[in-house]
Amino acid sequence: MTLFEELNRVATRIAPNEALPVCPWCGAGHLNVIEETPDPNFGALGVSSLTLRCDASACGRLTKT
Ligand SMILES: [Zn+2]
Repeated sequence: MTLFEELNRVATRIAPNEALPVCPWCGAGHLNVIEETPDPNFGALGVSSLTLRCDASACGRLTKT
């Protein structure tokens, strides 16, 4: 499984009451959804593109799905 596939899998699992996924880059922070926009190709099907940000100050990496 590629990292990109893993991130997509993680993103689709995110729900308000679930624990945030651990950042795959640093393994310490957690990924927060900071932006959700309709997917440019599949938005009509209800697919969203998520922007995730690691909450670890030393990392803070942005990830787009
Ligand atoms: Zn991180």
